[in-house]
Amino acid sequence: MGCLEDLLYRSRVIAEDLQFQGPKAWKAAQPHRKVLGHFQVYFPEEIAHAAGMLPIKIVGGGNKLEARRADAHLGSFICSIMRSTLELGLSGRLSFLDMMVTHPICDAARHLAGIWTRTFPNQPAQILYLPQNPNSKAAVKYLYHEYQRLQRDIEQIAGHSISEEDLRKSIALYNENRSLLRELYNLRKESPWLLSASESFVIVKAGTILPKEEHNQLLREILSLLPERNAKPQDKVRVVFVGAFCELPPIEMIETMEEMCYVVDDDFLIGLRWLTEDVSCEGDPLWNLAAAYIEHSTWASTQYDCHKPKEKMLECQVRAARAQGAICAAAKFCEPGVDDQIAYAKHFDSAGVSYILVEFEEKQTSFERLKMQTETFAEAILFE
Ligand code: SF4
Repeated sequence: MGCLEDLLYRSRVIAEDLQFQGPKAWKAAQPHRKVLGHFQVYFPEEIAHAAGMLPIKIVGGGNKLEARRADAHLGSFICSIMRSTLELGLSGRLSFLDMMVTHPICDAARHLAGIWTRTFPNQPAQILYLPQNPNSKAAVKYLYHEYQRLQRDIEQIAGHSISEEDLRKSIALYNENRSLLRELYNLRKESPWLLSASESFVIVKAGTILPKEEHNQLLREILSLLPERNAKPQDKVRVVFVGAFCELPPIEMIETMEEMCYVVDDDFLIGLRWLTEDVSCEGDPLWNLAAAYIEHSTWASTQYDCHKPKEKMLECQVRAARAQGAICAAAKFCEPGVDDQIAYAKHFDSAGVSYILVEFEEKQTSFERLKMQTETFAEAILFE
């Protein structure tokens, strides 16, 4: 086991690796096995894992990648994560992928599979149609059939048919990952001075490309060392950050907010934490995965669920985290994010929850305005 600082440094290196060295090495060591890339937000990685594939989450290029080639392919009103994801492909960084899966989460993303198929004919692209209406009685059955369809494609590309036992083992592995992530987030809520939001962000982000077995090991080691960390509580306000369900804020942006606040909860990489409880390994495992998506899942701007009104879900999140306010962000040109900002503001005005609205872009490098906004927000909370 390494020391905590080494493990945090390793997480950051993995999280910022735009050359995907880890997945490339994984594939070079076992060339018969395949890699599946999937775009934000949620994807049932267990299915690809059970087929012997390495599923990796494609989350854009951040502020270290210039989207020169992609700019020529996409309109200027398209969000940055779409551009940088295409740039990762056009620059050859994702040439090791054997399959790409996207989701119609918004008008921009619904075209990604088509663009991918035309641009990279050697990398079959699929769209996973998650239910538009999760409140329909047929939603679980519909999703079960959709997962079966996807499973057939995955089996064909992997050259490996998936048995129920394969899938149960993968579900158990991913249950452990989700449980460790819940532990990490609980620790941050209880003792945010032991683990900052930016540190937590890179630990979780490392899990977008690490094999799940390795990510579980990393999480176990970090969680065992954190309680002994030599850190003292500071006099900072507690806030919840939302709006990063798809495009991710630059790490420097999180660090800027943390100068004034403890960010005690957030929706960074919410797709990896989408299922909120263990998925049952009894019975039909594929059905259980579909049922968990509908019945035991969190919420995000990309899904409308009348049982989970987003503004009320966010208020509950703020109260459960004993936060004093919320930073409601939206990525530039992100329609679902901007729409929800309006709902949050309206609800919080009547519910008496303090909040600020901010806009960000993954390629952003200057944070002066955000710093001023967060400082003013924190002071207003402290002196209210
Ligand atoms: S950031 Fe928003 S607009 Fe862009 S792909 Fe994601 S959901 Fe769609």
